[in-house]
Amino acid sequence: MDTGLQKLRQQKEKMPNYREVLELAERLITLKQQTKKQWAFLPSSMDPIKLRIHIQEGFPYLRPDEIPLNPAQIQGYFQSLLGILKEQNPKKYEALRNSITAKGFELASFLKRFLEERLTEDRLGKEMGKEGSLLFFFVLQSLKPAFEIHAEYWRKEQKEFFWAQGYCPFCGGYPGMGEIREEGKRILHCPLCATEWDFPRLQCPYCLNEDQEKLTYFQVEGEAGYRVDICLLCRRYLKTVDVRERVEDPNWEVEDYLTLHLDHLAQEEGYTRPEGLFVEVR
Ligand SMILES: [Zn+2]
Ligand SMILES: [Zn+2]
Repeated sequence: MDTGLQKLRQQKEKMPNYREVLELAERLITLKQQTKKQWAFLPSSMDPIKLRIHIQEGFPYLRPDEIPLNPAQIQGYFQSLLGILKEQNPKKYEALRNSITAKGFELASFLKRFLEERLTEDRLGKEMGKEGSLLFFFVLQSLKPAFEIHAEYWRKEQKEFFWAQGYCPFCGGYPGMGEIREEGKRILHCPLCATEWDFPRLQCPYCLNEDQEKLTYFQVEGEAGYRVDICLLCRRYLKTVDVRERVEDPNWEVEDYLTLHLDHLAQEEGYTRPEGLFVEVR
């Protein structure tokens, strides 16, 4: 079995407070993996000049609204995701369903606004009420298979590259997690398309601040392999895993779920993730 899913199962037993969310995560990740196999299509060929120029100029290869999506596929997948919630937590599902019906939420038109206008979780919350965050979460999940398939293809074409930006070189997404490797090398991970890229260890990926006095981190006792990097200038945070003591490569999606308490702690202290999930470059 996938080692990421294996870890998820082990942790489920050790972290009773996390049981429900980890169970949901396990099913979502499994469905995503199956779906990617079913969808396995060859994206349209990539333009070698565009590949080179975008990397040189610091532009992501595609804007999020340029990533080819098949609306019927996404809609079907979104329904399957909600089906998982229905089985796992019928009450939450009912509440979400009711609010979708009451507010006339439509996935296709929301995706268009999300990808073109960078509609935020906050905005959806204002429109949808208290179910907004859960809905936003499922909308993001619905994009992951297609984003990952296209990004995997892009990574085959774009092998070696130098990229000094704090956002994903493929889709422009801000990092979901950071990683510290041997010799203190730092890697950032895109939460939407799963691309990773090198980034200076002592710099904020969001505002590019390099003032060491304004960069700090915190850790939780007993969790030596995890920390939260903080920038005091833009007041944003990034969860980071030190993999130097690890035997296996982490599954970054799983790590994100396993560290939800770090998000709560950071947010309690007034630190945030960027409001828009993607960079705006013109
Ligand atoms: Zn990305
Ligand atoms: Zn910053």
